[in-house]
Amino acid sequence: MNVIGHFVDGKRVAGTSGRTKDIFNPNTGQVQSQVSMATPAELDAAVASSEKAQIAWANTNPQKRSRILFAYKQLVEANMDDLAAMLSSEHGKVLADSRGDVIRGVDVIEFACGIPHGQKGEHTYGAGPEIDVYSMRKPLGVVAGITPFNFPAMIPMWMFGMAIATGNACILKPSEKDPSVPMRLAELFVEAGGPIGLLQCINGDKEIVDAICDHPTIKAVSFVGSSDIAQYVYARATANGKRAQCMGGAKNHGIIMPDANMDQAVKDILGAAFGSAGERCMALPVVVPVGEGTAERFLEKMLPAIEAMKVGVSEDPEADYGPVVTGVHKESIKAQVTKAVEEGADLLVDGRDFSLQGYEDGFFIGPSLLDNVTADMETYQDEIFGPVLQIVRANSFEEALKLPSEHQYGNGVAIFTQNGRAAREFADRVEVGMVGINVPIPVPVAYHSFGGWKRSAFGDANQYGMEGLRFYTKVKTVTQRWPEGETEDSAFIIPTF
Ligand code: NAD
Repeated sequence: MNVIGHFVDGKRVAGTSGRTKDIFNPNTGQVQSQVSMATPAELDAAVASSEKAQIAWANTNPQKRSRILFAYKQLVEANMDDLAAMLSSEHGKVLADSRGDVIRGVDVIEFACGIPHGQKGEHTYGAGPEIDVYSMRKPLGVVAGITPFNFPAMIPMWMFGMAIATGNACILKPSEKDPSVPMRLAELFVEAGGPIGLLQCINGDKEIVDAICDHPTIKAVSFVGSSDIAQYVYARATANGKRAQCMGGAKNHGIIMPDANMDQAVKDILGAAFGSAGERCMALPVVVPVGEGTAERFLEKMLPAIEAMKVGVSEDPEADYGPVVTGVHKESIKAQVTKAVEEGADLLVDGRDFSLQGYEDGFFIGPSLLDNVTADMETYQDEIFGPVLQIVRANSFEEALKLPSEHQYGNGVAIFTQNGRAAREFADRVEVGMVGINVPIPVPVAYHSFGGWKRSAFGDANQYGMEGLRFYTKVKTVTQRWPEGETEDSAFIIPTF
């Protein structure tokens, strides 16, 4: 069986620990390969090589850095089909969605190509008598990215794209469930002319995540995954004096106002709730129709829309979504649906017993729709991360606004309405980091930045955009003068101008 090792010093190397984890093909349910779990000693060796590469890279002028990133962007695009197929085979999402995963990552590389402008720094001529002040954004050194299974192309690129552009070296620790695409992305960076050692992949689990958080040379940790682990990584990395940005789980709400264009809202919510089998941190697993009439009109259109949906293998171009990532995850989703029923929700569509003919061992699960879900139910509070849509009925705008605002997570939210005034007020008052107005999945474009609130993110800096640039750089400010002879200032008084 193929055992995936690590990507260090510009090449794939075998792991030495003897400890591995299985990687499944979610379509068939079979183990297709294994991945080696690194030891702290393997991390040490990678960090040492990254440290060396970073010094030269930080002294490489920004336009040269940008050119390599541009060549990399083109190479990733040229490899799009292979990357998408590799991604689908380990994750299970349909091919078109895997392409989207790669494209949204490439968007960040594209933004990072503009680094000569972004990292220019600031300058004030004549801040005092013949005194000029300028600031520069210096890279941090060696940084690390720890990524989840659900976007194995996009999220690594969010991290290493910005880290490398700004002059850092990056150690990537991909999800152990689907590490092939991140490994290939690191390899392509070298093929595009990227310096050896600058982007490396170390595979592993908790042991290596702990070692990253504790490593004295690693200056910053960017993490994306579930909230408890995000909080843990944040605490451990910052206790060791590192910068950390740790994105966590989500439970995003879609509010439907009585004046919404219902056909459009249903179409949008269908895709946002069930696309990628609901395994997106910006999925919309909760819908909040405002008013009984709105709820009835929503159900009238949503029920047949769910009925018409097609669950199929990743390569099926007609499939709306594919299998979930593992059998364990499939069972946890089914258990959450059962628990919701026990808590008193009405199960209008039951996807628990779905089986795909010819792929009976695959990790497929049909769509489920739960009505009359209430805020006190645990299955409403928890992230299910599967093809399950929960309806929480609200009587008013205020009631609808309160639901996402008081939820433990605050990643994304969407409102469907034709009333600009209501939408504006909603966007202003809702306690959530990313808001969509008639946009179901408001993932910001690469030149804005991505980040939720509350238990959806720990740390201050968002991912990518100018926030990402700030996260991966530290400011140095220089105040200079070139006096002729001696000046008359007193050395004992703080300078005032
Ligand atoms: P996960 O938390 O299980 O794993 C994320 C990373 O943490 C992986 O690299 C994994 O190896 C590592 N890890 C796992 N257990 C650990 C432990 N005990 N100690 C230290 N490290 C550990 O998440 P996942 O299942 O891969 O991904 C799904 C989750 O990620 C969902 O909660 C989803 O909402 C979230 N997510 C959030 C965002 C966001 O930007 N907010 C984006 C995508 C996914």
